[in-house]
Amino acid sequence: MQDEKDVVGGIAANDLAHGRSEGANTLKFAPYWWEAAPRPDAPPADLPAKTDVVIVGSGFTGLSAAITLLNNGRTAVVLDRGVPGFGASTRNGGQIGSGNQKFRVKRLIALRGEAKASAMLREGMQMLDYIESLIQKETIACHFRRCGRFRGAMQPAHYDAMARDMEDLKAIAGVESFMVSRSDQHAEIGSDVFFGGSVLPADASLHPGLYHAGLMARIAEKGGLVIGNTGADRIEADGKGFRVVTARGTINARNVIIATNGYTDGLVPELGRRIVPIGSGLIATEALPQALYDELLPKNRVYGNTNRVFYYFRGAPDERRIIWGGRIGRSGGTTSPSNYRHLARDMLHVFPQLKSTPVTHAWDGLIGYSFDEVPHIGRTAGGLHYALGYCGTGVSRATYFGHKIALQVAGDANGRTSFDDLNFPAYPAHAIAKHAVPVFETWYRFQDAIKR
Ligand SMILES: Cc1cc2nc3c(=O)[nH]c(=O)nc-3n(C[C@H](O)[C@H](O)[C@H](O)COP(=O)(O)OP(=O)(O)OC[C@H]3O[C@@H](n4cnc5c(N)ncnc54)[C@H](O)[C@@H]3O)c2cc1C
Repeated sequence: MQDEKDVVGGIAANDLAHGRSEGANTLKFAPYWWEAAPRPDAPPADLPAKTDVVIVGSGFTGLSAAITLLNNGRTAVVLDRGVPGFGASTRNGGQIGSGNQKFRVKRLIALRGEAKASAMLREGMQMLDYIESLIQKETIACHFRRCGRFRGAMQPAHYDAMARDMEDLKAIAGVESFMVSRSDQHAEIGSDVFFGGSVLPADASLHPGLYHAGLMARIAEKGGLVIGNTGADRIEADGKGFRVVTARGTINARNVIIATNGYTDGLVPELGRRIVPIGSGLIATEALPQALYDELLPKNRVYGNTNRVFYYFRGAPDERRIIWGGRIGRSGGTTSPSNYRHLARDMLHVFPQLKSTPVTHAWDGLIGYSFDEVPHIGRTAGGLHYALGYCGTGVSRATYFGHKIALQVAGDANGRTSFDDLNFPAYPAHAIAKHAVPVFETWYRFQDAIKR
């Protein structure tokens, strides 16, 4: 454990957790990932008059779509309202799953039937394989690693439910996993908080900043354009295709892909009504001494828990920092240490050993939630293609859905997915839901806390 006097920058985790302000002025309110992948500062390129496909949103969905289109001989221009990668794709935890951990298998079967549930779960595993193959094929150096995921049970009943769910997952979709009892869990994690947990060995991790930068570089090499600081303000159908109107000019395209996920607004109202943005935040600690790091994360996996208001954490590649995330009430670049207090509190609940460790970075972003908690891909009544609604698990899903929507635009039958024919429900009272979700979050957090 580090000594208080060793703190050279950042705020000691214990001080952040208790709202003490000493050191808070040295906390950096920017993603830790941006240290290795600084934000592009070149002025945005001029808009070409036309292209085959305009993609709105320059996260993993948009960039993955662009790569597939360019590989298929199409021209593509990606627009972003902020600098490229402004959204969740350079802000996330870099944990890569199949998305299957989002579903309770029995519930999914009850809702969708066995055949559909099996197809969706199997496709989740293909999403993991796809991101790995893309990174290999495009030779993107981003610390991709099949590290596996440990999910800690917060209550004994959670452990039992998880064990049943893992058996169902194996039976219906062949997914491998194993359970770790409480008495054995120190082989997985240096904490006594959990009542055992499950391990999904195929899950992975990467450095989101470097992955995003690598995708950008490949697009440039293939002749695509990613234009930042150029929001799509209006999209008009013109009979032959679409006119995408921005403050910097208009661009004509045969097709448009909407890839705005948690940053979806009223640009396409029928999509805006189907997504609620939810804030998620992360903190990064200073690099830990090797021995402490090995004690806390002996297998160096990605980690989460079973609470409704879920937290997630991992080590930073090469640097032995702890990257700790969870939901955050206020979001959109919040720079108040108080908004990150609960993250430090949760971290110290799991790892009291970190009480004097400085927290150096804090940041947030928006995840896109669909009403049925399933990502959606398809085409609007007006002919716009879209892929969004990853509900907080989007590193693999956005990459895969971006690829698939691009194939659909290109008319390639390989673009079909088991998610194509799902009904995409609107939120019953979207304006209220947007404000109500953080209130429910607080309520769930309270319930989780009293059950600790
Ligand atoms: C803090 C945080 C932690 C996360 N951790 C994980 C994790 O560990 N593992 C995981 O799998 N997932 C995680 N996620 C989710 C994951 O990051 C997202 O699902 C994924 O990045 C979505 O990618 P995207 O390309 O669809 O959207 P984004 O990357 O959010 O990009 C959308 C873009 O659209 C742009 N935009 C919006 N409107 C317009 C417009 N009108 N014109 C032009 N541009 C526009 C925005 O500026 C934005 O850049 C996390 C998310 C957050 C916020």
